[in-house]
Parts: sequence; C-alpha cells; structure tokens
Amino acid sequence: MRITMVGTGYVGLVSGTCFADFGHQVTCVDKNVDKIAALDRGVIPIYEPDLDRLVEANVRAGRLAFSTELPEAVANSDAVFIAVGTPSRRGDGHADLSYVYAAAREIAVNLKDFTVVITKSTVPVGTGDEVERLIRDTNPQADVAVASNPEFLREGAAIRDFKHPDRIVVGTDDERARKIIAEIYRPLYLNQAPVMFTGRRTAELIKYAANAFLATKITFINEIADLAEKVGADVQEIARGIGLDNRIGAKFLHAGPGFGGSCFPKDTRALVKTAQDHETPIRIVEAVLSVNEIRKRAMARKVAAVFGGSLRGKTVALLGLTFKPNTDDMRESPSIPLVTALQDLGATIKAYDPVGMEQARNELTDVTYCSGPYECAEGADALVIVTEWEQFRALDLGRLKQQMACPVMVDLRNVYRPSEVAAHGFKYESVGRPSPS
Ligand code: NAD
Repeated sequence: MRITMVGTGYVGLVSGTCFADFGHQVTCVDKNVDKIAALDRGVIPIYEPDLDRLVEANVRAGRLAFSTELPEAVANSDAVFIAVGTPSRRGDGHADLSYVYAAAREIAVNLKDFTVVITKSTVPVGTGDEVERLIRDTNPQADVAVASNPEFLREGAAIRDFKHPDRIVVGTDDERARKIIAEIYRPLYLNQAPVMFTGRRTAELIKYAANAFLATKITFINEIADLAEKVGADVQEIARGIGLDNRIGAKFLHAGPGFGGSCFPKDTRALVKTAQDHETPIRIVEAVLSVNEIRKRAMARKVAAVFGGSLRGKTVALLGLTFKPNTDDMRESPSIPLVTALQDLGATIKAYDPVGMEQARNELTDVTYCSGPYECAEGADALVIVTEWEQFRALDLGRLKQQMACPVMVDLRNVYRPSEVAAHGFKYESVGRPSPS
C-alpha cells in the first residue's frame, strides 16, 4: 500500500515508520521544515526507544521518505492518515481541530484516484463527518472515504505498542475503505491483534472513553493513596489486593503525583466538553479532572510539610521532569505545576532528567539543570523523585546522603522501600504508604 502520514510527530513518525516496516511505501509529511530536514539527515526529532534504528532501516530499504510537500505524496497514495496535533483549545478546553481541518482541506485538493483519508489524531466524536464534508465541499469530484483509526500507543513504548496492539479500532461503513485499512494492518493479524470494525462515531468515542477510563483509574488510586496515608495503610498493597481481581486488573493502579502528558489531560477535558455540549455531562470525568488538577500542587505541600510548611531558603532537587520515563515529552507534565508550587513555597530548584531537560527549558523558569542524579542532589535539602526513570531506581543512598545538606527524600513514584531508605538515615516520604518511624 502507498501511504501518506500527515503530521510527523510522536504518533505520525512512529506509525509511519512501523507501516514502512510492515512493507508499505510511506511518506511522512510535516509542515515543520526543521523536523523534515533533521529526519532527512537521519536525526530523530523526538526521543523514543529504538525509533532511530527502525527509521534508518526503512529509509535504507527505500520504503520510508520524509517531505514537506503534501500534494505529491497525497496524489500517489491509497491511504492518507491525519496524525496532526489536537491540543486543548485556549480558553475553553475543547479539542483544537484547526490543524486537522487545515490538513483535510490540503488533502482534498490533491486527491486523485480512490483514496481513504483516515484520522489517526484523537478527535471528538463527529469530527470524521466534518472532515468528510470539508473534503467533499473543497473537491466535489474526489473519490474518497473518510475513516477513523484512533491510535493507542504509549510514548516510551510506542513501537512495541504499535506492533503488538491490544486491538486496532477502525471506524468506517465504506467497504473499499475497510479493505484498504485491513490490508494496511494485515501483518498484525499474524500477531493476532484483534481488529475491530465499527462505525466512525463509535471509533472516535472509543478513544476518549479509553483515555478517560485510564485517567479515572489513576485518579481513583491516588485518592485511595491519600486515605491510606491518613489511616496508616499501604496503597501499594491495596493496589495489589484489588488488582489481582481480574475484573479490576493490576495496571494503572500506581499512586503518584497525578496524571499528565500530551493525552490524558487534554482528552479528558475534551470529552467533558463534548458531553456537556450534548447535555449529558460525564460527572465522573469532571471530578477526575479537578481532583487531578489540585493534586500536583499538593505534592509540593507534601515536600514543604517535612520542613514545617515552608521551603524558604531550601534547595529542592528533582529527579525526573517528563510525565513518564522513556520520553522527552514535557507536555502537561506534573513536574511543571510542581516546580511552580515549590517555588511559590520559597524553594530553589535543581533538576535532572535523562532526556527531558531540553524541552523543560521551554516550560520552566529559574531551574538549575544538572548533569546527573548525584550532581543534582549535591547540597540539596530535599530530593524528590518525580519520574520513575530506570536509572533512579537503584541510587547509591549512602553517597546521596553524604552529598545532601539534609537527608530528605520525597518519592512521588514509590520507587523505594521505606525501610531501606530510612535505614540509610533519610527522612522518607512516599505516596500512600506509612512513613517509616
Ligand atoms: P505532535 O505535536 O508530536 O505532532 C504533530 C505534528 O503535526 C507536528 O510535527 C506538526 O508540525 C504537524 N502538523 C500540524 N499541522 C500539519 C499540517 N497541516 N500538515 C503537516 N503536518 C502538520 O503530536 P502527537 O503527540 O504525535 O499527537 C498527534 C495526535 O495523536 C493527537 O491528536 C494526539 O492526541 C494523538 N495521540 C497521541 C499519542 C501520544 O502518545 N503522543 C497517543 C495516541 C494518540
């Protein structure tokens, strides 16, 4: 199949590269000239494990190309995926669909033979109808079908997720579109990935329902963690105790500083807005959003509580800034409100993240960036584990204690065993677990 991927970001680049790896002929298009120039030089503009190797192999095999020129790519494609951003619209929290619609218009004028246009971007229910209307208005002669194929990959494990998905959701009523999309994903049938064909609106809503459900699960365990802390129970054991029940499942039950990232916050906001517009408010998701919002600053107060409520004159060292490990993505990372709240409480901030510091510089002010975890801890009054990068899981606690001005560790990811850290002479706080006495 000949495929154009419009939008070469986290989703477009990974999906396009994996499609090429399946054997298809793929052109990844982006408006960002620097991004395409970098890719043409073999430089990957994002951090995603193993992506460099896969891009290189498929470019070398002649199956993957990059371009800023959409017209030629679209005219020669059987399928055109829209994978542009759908951020929160400033002011009201609706999904900003301007990039999707701009891409749809540009695609429309360049369609030649029968083509399937597929939204891979996360878009509110009904967007496919609007994309189809736009294309038909712009180019009434176009032989086109518009389908929905939401993406469920996770940053940091994107290639594995794309190649071994739990399911592939395809929303279309068009038989020709169905055949082409089935052919595109055919290599995955060998991995026995279930392909679910459904209506377009249903597919669009599946994506939001999935993300809202996962965000709810996280928020639920976070509130249970707060209660556990108050009553002397251990949220890790509670999570295990409920997660072993197959009806509940063990995943997404890790208490922490609140969810963030490029998807959950904006997608839950957009779902809330869609539901309100249809006069069927989803109160659970509304509550999830507000609970999660409050939580991030509350984590700063947790640090301050160790020092009697104020951090004036104190230096706080943060380990990890990205919203999760194995990505450089800083969009809506919980570390952003955490840093401002710590600064509001008087703290001076040092930070280290294995790959997120470049993006963090655009988001945070008055932060001293360090070259490693130990340099970060040097002279600090408190060390806060914000992101559970692998390299923070086995720190030399003796060395840390020697380097810090005051041995305080606040572990927002419950990476360490309380007794172990306490045995090294630290005051240790974590999330939803009794503090060691
Ligand atoms: P991104 O910001 O990393 O990439 C979007 C790219 O689209 C940018 O490079 C931008 O320059 C390009 N672009 C915008 N308008 C364009 C146009 N008209 N023509 C060509 N290129 C254009 O975004 P992302 O994280 O890859 O997300 C894309 C979509 O996928 C969003 O709807 C998101 O919600 C969804 N999604 C993201 C993830 C994730 O983990 N990042 C997972 C599943 C779904």
